[in-house]
Amino acid sequence: MTNNSVGFEETSYIKCKKCRAPAIIYQRYSGMHLCENHFCEDVERKVKLTIRQTYKINKNDVIAVALSGGKDSSVALYIINKIFERRPDIKIVAITIDEGIEGYRNLSIKRTKEFTKKYGIEHKIYSFKDEYETTMDYIVKENNIFENYKNHKNHKNNDKKEPGACSYCGVLRKKLLNKAARELGATKLVIGHNLDDEAQTIMLNYFKGDVARMLQTSSTEENEHFVLRVKPLRKISEREVALYAYIHDMPMELTRCPHSFGALRKEVRNMLNDYEIKHPGTKYSLLKGFDTIVPIIRKTKDEIFVTKISFCEKCGDPTSGKYCQACKMLENLKIK
Ligand code: SF4
Ligand SMILES: [Zn+2]
Ligand SMILES: [Zn+2]
Repeated sequence: MTNNSVGFEETSYIKCKKCRAPAIIYQRYSGMHLCENHFCEDVERKVKLTIRQTYKINKNDVIAVALSGGKDSSVALYIINKIFERRPDIKIVAITIDEGIEGYRNLSIKRTKEFTKKYGIEHKIYSFKDEYETTMDYIVKENNIFENYKNHKNHKNNDKKEPGACSYCGVLRKKLLNKAARELGATKLVIGHNLDDEAQTIMLNYFKGDVARMLQTSSTEENEHFVLRVKPLRKISEREVALYAYIHDMPMELTRCPHSFGALRKEVRNMLNDYEIKHPGTKYSLLKGFDTIVPIIRKTKDEIFVTKISFCEKCGDPTSGKYCQACKMLENLKIK
């Protein structure tokens, strides 16, 4: 076996387990070689099953899809559109968040516009600039986020934990996505998290002992304050999402965000990838185990872990304290 230009194992001389056409992928966890058609069918079947088993799509749902322009969100949007495009009662709208990252986000926004135009999908763009009157470029530069993070990593200021840019960006983007989805009347918000993302998040929460967050991030219940987040790709590995995107000629992330420097997540990603090679199916098992224990914890421990919801005194968003996390962040950052 050799590696082709996109890094997938070249297995074309081996036949598909289902139809004997040339295989394009070997699924180590299932032991199956699959041709292009059967591979795509397998991905779409798993997505449909995830939606049916985990999230209720109701009549007249408005499904917002967070579209960053990378492979994951593009695949999520494409498959959601394919599944629901013939349902006149379901509306689909793509939302892109412009965090203000020159040389990166402006390029991916161009791709999102082309992509939604190609498939005739309504597309809305919301920016940090309009919402928070700042940009991620400004926040990172003016608050020395890169330097502080590096110093902390190198134990120069051991006393204070310094978050990287992604911690700020993630909180602000999540808040804006939820706001945009609500403004657009969305009843579901699709996020392109794949199996690798999910497995990493589970491990990270275990490492931090953050059971409350585990319950929050795994919620599948509708909530009047937050649009329900739907993760249709949560059982599809990153490698398979990439192959699906490649087959369908979808946008790939060609540039890397300049603010994405080192994080615990990267270490966890490498560790899980090592395990997956040695023990195929590890990531899926982790997710399956997690999905089994969460409802049990939820049933017995809700009163301990679910904090009472109050409303942020600044923006009115639901929170467990006086101010929401985003308002607290913005208060402490130099933003303009
Ligand atoms: S890599 Fe980090 S800073 Fe860059 S867009 Fe993603 S979350 Fe934001
Ligand atoms: Zn086949
Ligand atoms: Zn707030």
